[in-house]
Amino acid sequence: MAIENEIKESFTATEITLPDSIKLLFDLKDKFNIQDSNAHDIIKSIKIDDVESNKKRVYLYKIIKEHLNSCQRCPLYSIENHTQKVAGEGALNSPIVLIGEGPGFDEDKVGRPFVGRAGQLLTIILNKMEIRRERIYITNVIKCRPPRNRTPLQKEIKACSNNLEMELSFITPKVIIALGSVPLNYFKPGSSITRDRGQWINFGEYWIMPTFHPAYILRKQGKALNKVKWAVWQDFNKAVNKAKEMYPEYKYN
Ligand code: SF4
Repeated sequence: MAIENEIKESFTATEITLPDSIKLLFDLKDKFNIQDSNAHDIIKSIKIDDVESNKKRVYLYKIIKEHLNSCQRCPLYSIENHTQKVAGEGALNSPIVLIGEGPGFDEDKVGRPFVGRAGQLLTIILNKMEIRRERIYITNVIKCRPPRNRTPLQKEIKACSNNLEMELSFITPKVIIALGSVPLNYFKPGSSITRDRGQWINFGEYWIMPTFHPAYILRKQGKALNKVKWAVWQDFNKAVNKAKEMYPEYKYN
C-alpha cells in the first residue's frame, strides 16, 4: 500500500474520492509500463514536454473526461437546461490552473469552459501576459450549468469536488488563480472576493491567488471599470510571476 500512502500524503484537498485517483494512477502505470512506484514520480513523469509524456497526458485527459461524463453525483446533470458536462481544458502539465465558478449558457452549448464574453476577455488578459490559453489549464468548480446561471449550491460544489480534485491531483499546479467568490470559498470558506483578492492563500502544495471573475469586469463601467481592470492585472501578474519563479523552464507560448 506504499503508493496509496504516498498519494494520501501528496493530496491536500478535503473532498477527494481516493479510489478513483488511485485507479487512474494504476491505469496509467499499466498502460505505459511505468516502472516508478511512488505517486510523486509517476506524476512527475507526465509533466515533461516530450512526445512520450504528451501521450500520457492525452490518455489521462481522455479518462478524466470519461470519469466526468459518467458523473451523476448531483441533480444538475439531469435538469432541463443542461446540454452537457463541461470539462476543463488546456495543458495537463501547466504550473498554472485557472478555476472559475461553473459553465454558463455558451459553455453549456459548446462544451468548453470560458468561451462566452467572459471567456473572450480572459483570453485577452492571458494574451496580454504573453500566455497562450492552450498552455495553461482552465476549469470550473462545478461542471454542469446551474439553472438560470445561478450560483452553485454548497451541496453541488461538494458533490463536484471529486471531479476538480481528480484534475488537480494529476496537474499538481504551482499556482491556482481563483476567479471569483465560488472558487475562492472552495479553498478558503468564509472569504470575500472584494476583501481578499490579491492576497496569497497557501493551500497544501498550491499557492492560490484570488481575483475577480472576468464577468464581474464586464459589468463595470467608467472609473469602477478601470479600478477592477487594474486589480485583476496586478493579481494575474503576481500569479504568473510566482509560477515562473517556481517553474522557470515551462513555456507559456
Ligand atoms: S455538477 Fe458536477 S457533481 Fe453535479 S452532475 Fe455535474 S459533474 Fe456531477
